Amino acid sequence: MTDTVNLLDFDAAGLVAYCASLGEKSFRARQLQRWIHHGGVSDFDAMTDLAKSLRDKLKTCASIRHPAVLQDHTSADGTRKWLLDVGEGNAVETVYIPEQGRGTLCVSSQAGCAVNCRFCSTGKQGFSRNLGVGEIIGQLWMAEFALRAARGGLAPGERVITNVVMMGMGEPLLNFDAVVPAMRLMLDDHAYGLSRRRVTLSTSGVVPMIDRLAAELPVALAVSLHAPNDALRDELVPLNRKYPLAQLMAACNRYLRVAPRDFITFEYCMLDGINDSDEHARQLLALTRDVPCKFNLIPFNPFPESGLLRSHPERIKQFAQILIDAGVVTTVRRTRGDDIDAACGQLAGEVRDRTRVAERRRRDARTGLASIGVRAV
Ligand code: SF4
Repeated sequence: MTDTVNLLDFDAAGLVAYCASLGEKSFRARQLQRWIHHGGVSDFDAMTDLAKSLRDKLKTCASIRHPAVLQDHTSADGTRKWLLDVGEGNAVETVYIPEQGRGTLCVSSQAGCAVNCRFCSTGKQGFSRNLGVGEIIGQLWMAEFALRAARGGLAPGERVITNVVMMGMGEPLLNFDAVVPAMRLMLDDHAYGLSRRRVTLSTSGVVPMIDRLAAELPVALAVSLHAPNDALRDELVPLNRKYPLAQLMAACNRYLRVAPRDFITFEYCMLDGINDSDEHARQLLALTRDVPCKFNLIPFNPFPESGLLRSHPERIKQFAQILIDAGVVTTVRRTRGDDIDAACGQLAGEVRDRTRVAERRRRDARTGLASIGVRAV
């Protein structure tokens, strides 16, 4: 099976090219795509409107494979987390978050992450490799049809997952060539048919790739900001040393010319005594003055190696109030899936670190973090 072509690796154009290589017309690709992504069907014999000869051909050379499920946990609040095997000792996590009137899937794009943000559980593990298209869209395919099965099926056209956030493990813009075809499938009417407003890509600020995304597939954009000035952001999000805040803010404004929403969402992880003072809030307002935006304040989910603590709820409230008083829409993210480590920044999976990120982080924990006042916990 693993030596057959995985049809989840193809977006619409890829499937047309694959069908052409089998001597099949392009409408066959569309039929196939609908069976796979609308119907969740992986058995070619069940694809009854395909010619028997094509079904027999596909059985010998193709398959539909999502990453194998290693663990499947459901939290008391309904949040469901899957740990998925992506080979060679690597595993990634996918999280479904049910809310009133919608269901959001948080999708991973890399096994690990090399960006090494200080407050991130994924970053501490280092980086192994980029996921392929099939491993990314396979998370949505697996989750949608597992959730449908759990509900005993749905009416035609109805779906459980209404929103996707590329916010799981990894920096999606550093795996652009796989993430974009996977997102094309999310938007494709013959696949998941989500609007561009309902697919959000979250980046730590890879400026040139923000411009490329604007040119190729402008979905909703979230930016992991976490600090209001370069000195602090250099420490919390090391990518800032390469693409400092002035460049990032300019890229956000360029993106807004084509974005499906008329604002950028800035995510800001609330770290006790690090980035949560009134002065930080005022700096944040000054920084984003010319960028139409919303703020999403995320209470930090502490993990032992981080040396960081969550801001006190009252501090978060006061911080939010300064932003709100200045007229900026600000929400405080509700912590979901705490009991199964599915909350933001807690996705860890298992990563065979091919970089020295994990090692560097351990060294920094002993030495450098004192520079931003991180305490031992
Ligand atoms: S916050 Fe995002 S970009 Fe930063 S280390 Fe974690 S996964 Fe990577």
